[in-house]
Amino acid sequence: MIELTGLTKRYGEKVAVNQLTFTVRPGIVTGFLGPNGAGKSTTMRMILGLDHPTAGDVRIDGKHYDQLKDPMTCIGALLDAKAVHGGRSAYHHLLCLAQANGIPGRRVHEVLDTVGLTAVARKKARGFSLGMGQRLGIAGALLGDPRILMFDEPVNGLDPEGIHWIRTLMKTLAAQGRTVFVSSHLMSEMALTADHLVVIGQGRLLADMSMTDFIAQNSRSCVRIRTPQRERLLDVLHGAGLTVVETGSGAFEVDAGEPERIGELAAQHQIVLHELSTQQASLEEAFMRLTAESVEYHAHADPAAGQQWGDGWRKD
Ligand code: ADP
Ligand code: MG
Repeated sequence: MIELTGLTKRYGEKVAVNQLTFTVRPGIVTGFLGPNGAGKSTTMRMILGLDHPTAGDVRIDGKHYDQLKDPMTCIGALLDAKAVHGGRSAYHHLLCLAQANGIPGRRVHEVLDTVGLTAVARKKARGFSLGMGQRLGIAGALLGDPRILMFDEPVNGLDPEGIHWIRTLMKTLAAQGRTVFVSSHLMSEMALTADHLVVIGQGRLLADMSMTDFIAQNSRSCVRIRTPQRERLLDVLHGAGLTVVETGSGAFEVDAGEPERIGELAAQHQIVLHELSTQQASLEEAFMRLTAESVEYHAHADPAAGQQWGDGWRKD
């Protein structure tokens, strides 16, 4: 279990982490989601005692990181996959880590096997691909067989096979009863991996809820309609008490309507429809809505980003 209480970090004027209070529980994967610059890495560094909080507190199974007797057997972390001595082989890198932490040498073989690096264990880490580097970092995190695991953006830059492997690994670790805390800036990634979701924006807590609740609250749907007889259809829909939004591209959207009812209304009034479809708001869009106010780099600077962040959930 990881417990944060009012955890705060300032860098000069900048408040990178702002009074975060939440608990990461065992047996599930907890996703730590936020746009770039939200404060995820800073929070994780404070959990590991690599950065000192300006205020507040963070405890791992009730203790501060530096009070843990054998830290690697309690919490394993992947923060920066490039933090490996490139001149060492994967095997030697892990062996040094094991020896420095009183972990038996046989664990090196076990974790190499778990992450699928046995065949290249004697090769220098410098020649490793990004995916192999991530696997080596994860092997290091697993070395002490810790009850708590923390991964900072582990799927960044990985190919689909690597991403799938990491997802499966997290779920397996959680199913073994471990605490798994993993960050990402991608809602789509979290939706596939996490059981519980902690969302932050500009250092502040925006949501702390189960993935199921997040999906239920955010997967609004609406019905999209196109017709050459706009005025007549609008009259009919308004007459039926439906709220209609014009989307600007000649289409309408009805928030809380069933396509069957709208189709039947149109047929009764002999109105031709060119489109009648249910639109599902994506979770990615829900995440953007939630964090829109706290995104550091706003629309204006980059027209492409403007479209992405600015449109809300109505997309054509
Ligand atoms: P995330 O991991 O969510 O992308 P970070 O924790 O890396 O966010 O950064 C949060 C904010 O704190 C950013 O605005 C970043 O520029 C700032 N920040 C992070 N580390 C430092 C530092 N050492 N000095 C000054 N500002 C920092
Ligand atoms: Mg980060």
